[in-house]
Amino acid sequence: MSQNQVIVLQSGYSHADEEEPGAMRANCSCTLIRCRDGTNIIVDTLTAWDGEHLLRLLSEVGLQPQDINVVVCTHGHSDHIGCNYLFQQARLHLVGACASHKDLYFDHFGGGDKDEKYSLDKHGEVVVQRTPGHTLSCVSVIVHNTALGTVGVCGDLFERQDDVADASIWQNAGSEDGKQQCTERLRMAQLCAHIVPGHGPMFAVTDELRSKLEADALNLILK
Ligand SMILES: [Zn+2]
Repeated sequence: MSQNQVIVLQSGYSHADEEEPGAMRANCSCTLIRCRDGTNIIVDTLTAWDGEHLLRLLSEVGLQPQDINVVVCTHGHSDHIGCNYLFQQARLHLVGACASHKDLYFDHFGGGDKDEKYSLDKHGEVVVQRTPGHTLSCVSVIVHNTALGTVGVCGDLFERQDDVADASIWQNAGSEDGKQQCTERLRMAQLCAHIVPGHGPMFAVTDELRSKLEADALNLILK
């Protein structure tokens, strides 16, 4: 493999439930990253009820749970961490900025440097970075050198593509720090050609989308 590959195993969704008043139906985008050095990374592992389903999704691309080397959960909400237990052969589990293996907790992201980059592959092309906002501990995985250019697997930093035109979508999905989220959204859009949002299909970042995110960030500074 000469390039890294980003495979969305399942696109996330979120919408009001038709029967339960005030309740939402939601599950996350679950993404497999196949690095060109052979490292396999799974990003966001659905809910705790999805184990068999996730095993099926993996088998469709010819993988078993023991083939996964690193688990990244963009943040600690229950629809993003549910099946981490399937990946007990992985060398590292990252849940937001918290990195562990079994009962051993590493100091990655512990130094308070908000721009810290942690490489998951030996070429330094697949990196985890903090992207706070939805939660203060949120991270994104940035995958350089793919057939689609640079791809950001961003969790709930973006709910779905429509939330660029209508900011109330990500704001109503819950945001622990709206200002940081707004800034991080622009930063990821400037860095990435494609984004996998937390609860919708992957989308291409057009100049139009970038301009809108820039205007949002400027508005925020002027406020
Ligand atoms: Zn979510």
